[in-house]
Amino acid sequence: MEEKNAKSLFEGLKLFVRAIKAAHTIERKFFPAMFSADILNALTPYVVIYFSSLILNELSSDKRPEYLWKLVILTVTISGGLSIVGAILKHMKTKYREVFLFNYRRLYINKAFDMDYEDVSNQETFDLLSKISQAENWAGWGFENVIRTFSGLTRSITGIIGAFSLTISLFFIKAPAGNPSLQFLNTPLFMLLFFALMIGLSVIAGKLVGYCDACSAKLAESATLGNRIFGYFGFFSRSKRDVDVRMYDQSRIMNYYFNNDEYNAFSINGPFAKLAKGKGGICIGTAQGLSAILTGCVYLFTCLKAIAGAFGIGSIMRYVGAATQFSLYMADFVTSVSDIRNNAPFLENCFKYLDKPNHMYKGSLTTEKRADRNYDVEFKDVSFKYPGTDTWALRHVNVRFKVGKRLAVVGENGSGKTTFIKLLCRLYDPQEGEILLNGIDIKKYDYKDYIDIFSVVFQDYVLMSQPIADNVAGTDKYDVKRVTKALNDAGFSERLSTMPNGINTLIYKNYGESGVELSGGEEQKVAIARALYKDGPFLILDEPTAALDPIAEADIYSHLNSIVGDRTAIYISHRLSSCRFCDEIMVFDKGEIVETGTHEELLENNRGKYYELWNVQAKHYVEAAG
Ligand code: ADP
Repeated sequence: MEEKNAKSLFEGLKLFVRAIKAAHTIERKFFPAMFSADILNALTPYVVIYFSSLILNELSSDKRPEYLWKLVILTVTISGGLSIVGAILKHMKTKYREVFLFNYRRLYINKAFDMDYEDVSNQETFDLLSKISQAENWAGWGFENVIRTFSGLTRSITGIIGAFSLTISLFFIKAPAGNPSLQFLNTPLFMLLFFALMIGLSVIAGKLVGYCDACSAKLAESATLGNRIFGYFGFFSRSKRDVDVRMYDQSRIMNYYFNNDEYNAFSINGPFAKLAKGKGGICIGTAQGLSAILTGCVYLFTCLKAIAGAFGIGSIMRYVGAATQFSLYMADFVTSVSDIRNNAPFLENCFKYLDKPNHMYKGSLTTEKRADRNYDVEFKDVSFKYPGTDTWALRHVNVRFKVGKRLAVVGENGSGKTTFIKLLCRLYDPQEGEILLNGIDIKKYDYKDYIDIFSVVFQDYVLMSQPIADNVAGTDKYDVKRVTKALNDAGFSERLSTMPNGINTLIYKNYGESGVELSGGEEQKVAIARALYKDGPFLILDEPTAALDPIAEADIYSHLNSIVGDRTAIYISHRLSSCRFCDEIMVFDKGEIVETGTHEELLENNRGKYYELWNVQAKHYVEAAG
């Protein structure tokens, strides 16, 4: 964290309070449980100190047995009772803390689901989220620090009040006049100086610890980089990468980063080690030394007053005990206050993410579930540039989908095919032109309703390490018959019959040995089954068969033709031969639609793009066959 990001205490407090409010919405029982547990935890030692001092005073003076019994019973009952209540509260605090820590990431997850896709997918959001999670992982900055600081403040303020009430009489009980050399203990100036010393040393000790935390917080940028590198390389040798790691001895690259102080902040000579060996270590050591000096001074002052005859042995124990607690809590308080400032830039990042506004207009019109699937979609002179780029990825695109027909979208790599689908699914809005559904701009529809009409298999689909059925249905509450049918229709039935638990078989081994690994082609079939299960009126397959061999591809296509039924289907494919059966083929080139027609019509234009692409591919097939 650079110095320019440093926040004032006031700014820190505002963020701190806001974070508590946000955290409270996640688990409403956590803060009350933590608050009461911490108060009791801070007060219990004083109760014990107070009653023990009464017992010791009685033992060193009148020694009245009845009074002593009463005191002992009272001490045992009260401290026992407090310990039991304290243990219950501590248990509640721990329980709700776990619940909270487990759930508070929902704040980020919910935000990610709600955010415009454009924002979710951009580098700035990725960097921000990465900073937030790295800061949490390496030192618990952010929300976790808020909890620690809240607890520290509750304990220290309660502790200071408790210690103050038990120690205050130390300053007012006067040493009797019998010992003139110790009379200076009674002078207001001395008492003031001693009080100031107590406060001063505690504050300095707390500030030193806070300073050390601040130095560590300033290393956040390097820690983030170090953690990213560790996160990437630390788990590098896994699953699909294993082969490459061995064949190209990629451990050399990993070692380079791991052993390089510039990249690995946690290396033996890295900035954290330097901080611990240098000013960080000095600060912490000095803080502990100051606490020891303070305890010594309190002992000296209290013992001198006792020698002068101001109070008995029990009171020495009470004052020393309470004053030592006072200095510890004072230091704790100062550290907690420093942490409010130190944590502010991290909280600012958290809220920067959580506050990200949605720019995409989302209307409220419903798409209505039409049994006739009569959804008429039209692109009207649509042009689009990806955010942050200057080149048009799509230019003047005009197309009207024929309901219930099969449309193929072909073109070279980078010609705009996937972008076209992303716009159709409203992952982005075009800068120019409009997309209409049944004559109305798609922006005017309720977003969830609108995307519900599309069943899409993108090239870079992701399956989850969950049972096959959950993957297909997207939930654990599914219709078994429909899941099985979708898998059969997608050509997965043969593989399914070999699976130990049928549709309940876990995909991948992330959760243990019982999971199964799937080939690229099998994964693609499950992804297709997922789209079929969703049963949107539009079925879109973006290079759906790239990982399939030609036989599996032919199989899928012959299947698909019957599965598609009355849906409107859009296929994006490299292999033009797969598109021949489509009712219409749309040829993209450099972001524009340059030709449309059936396979036969397009081949008639021997100067057209389709003709060119077809011949290049045909040539390869002939060469390969020859
Ligand atoms: P195709 O699917 O035909 O291979 P794309 O639609 O993926 O092509 O890409 C069209 C153009 O948009 C390409 O020039 C590509 O580099 C660019 N592009 C694709 N995705 C992004 C993105 N997220 N950000 C910026 N440019 C992109």
